[in-house]
Amino acid sequence: MVQSYYSKNKKEIRKYLNEYQNNWRKTLRGRIAMRVSNANRRKKVRETKDGTVTRKRVEKELIQQKSLCAICNVSLVSNKMHLDHILQLAKGGKHTIDNLQWLCASCNLKKH
Ligand SMILES: [Zn+2]
Repeated sequence: MVQSYYSKNKKEIRKYLNEYQNNWRKTLRGRIAMRVSNANRRKKVRETKDGTVTRKRVEKELIQQKSLCAICNVSLVSNKMHLDHILQLAKGGKHTIDNLQWLCASCNLKKH
């Protein structure tokens, strides 16, 4: 069973894929691909921003969330925090304050 093989070896498979990706990023093709994808991302931010994403608004958002992760409610004061696009830019999400939320690192990385 493919499913059970994956669930039994989840950690090792993840580790292998991470290493594979890290090595790929160091190759010329990988570096080019990263450049293109970063440029595309910046372009999307530029095209969809409405001026609502300011330091003040983003801080206010964190206060409204009571400094807790929007998904698992863990405290963001003592954990790494990520500012996350609720609907990913890659999926047509906009770079606006309404589309942003604070997440802990593990929730944000699980999402993608
Ligand atoms: Zn979380």
